[in-house]
Amino acid sequence: MFTAITIVLWILSPWLLVEGGISFEEFHRENLPLLSLTNSSENNLLLPFNTTRTPGSEESLKVQNFIKRFYRGMEGPWQLEEDSFEANGRRFKNLVFTLGEASHYVTIAAHYDSKVAPEGFVGASDSAASCAILLYVSRFLDRLYDEDAALLEPRLRGAGIGFKIVFFDGEEALQQWRADDSLYGSRRLAGQWARSGTLDHIELLVLLDLLGSEPQPIPSYFRETHWYYERLASLEAAYTHQELQLDAQDHRFLQANGVTIEDDHVPFYEAGVAVLHLVPWPFPSVWHTLEDDYDHLQQGQVDKWAVLLSEFLIDCAARR
Ligand SMILES: [Zn+2]
Repeated sequence: MFTAITIVLWILSPWLLVEGGISFEEFHRENLPLLSLTNSSENNLLLPFNTTRTPGSEESLKVQNFIKRFYRGMEGPWQLEEDSFEANGRRFKNLVFTLGEASHYVTIAAHYDSKVAPEGFVGASDSAASCAILLYVSRFLDRLYDEDAALLEPRLRGAGIGFKIVFFDGEEALQQWRADDSLYGSRRLAGQWARSGTLDHIELLVLLDLLGSEPQPIPSYFRETHWYYERLASLEAAYTHQELQLDAQDHRFLQANGVTIEDDHVPFYEAGVAVLHLVPWPFPSVWHTLEDDYDHLQQGQVDKWAVLLSEFLIDCAARR
């Protein structure tokens, strides 16, 4: 599989290879081991999320500190906004990291909290793996800024594009899923961004959820972003010819073209933000059970989405 990745990346990314600096291929070869399920090096990005992460808990705090430490260790001008708030007797905290000062932002997000029940629930696909993928993608963007600034920055500046990476707290219900007992972090951030005017500058919100375990189809949910979905589907088809999860011809959800799966995108979607929701349907069989653990993650799935989303974000910026 590794060979397949490298060959395809050479084809997809010629402009980064021409003028020196790092190539996508080199980056992924060097960095995919950081997402290893088995090698617990101190730089591993995936294993620190292998814990319960209920809002306000000590474990949640450790995970927040791990995420913040990671961004502090990067080279680029990342801006951190953390927002701590209380709701339903619990403390929550959203973390937002921004790269670049821009007129428009591509935002990529996942939730880092885990369900309160059943006790011991880790939520490896829900959404530990997605959080690790966000770190990987951030590292990718950071390296491009650091090593290829002369090449990359004019393109991003010319397009007026920056990136926001969002870690939501409190996606899960504390007791039973209801409008006022779920999506704590995303409702909070969407409200703040509506008041500050930031929402008007979000070009696209890519929301990751339930990725990393057995491969399931991931349909296109919204007509407004089907164009982006097609771009990602073509990257996937170039990347692997086995077990394609995206199918741009599957228009089942586009006909309804509304919210059918409630997740952190909802407060943003309702406020008019373009959303690409990357969540499998049907959900993984381990969904909301104790079996949604690291034994049920698949290395190939984690690696695949890390590579595809890195490529996709640059593709979004370059084509604007
Ligand atoms: Zn969940």
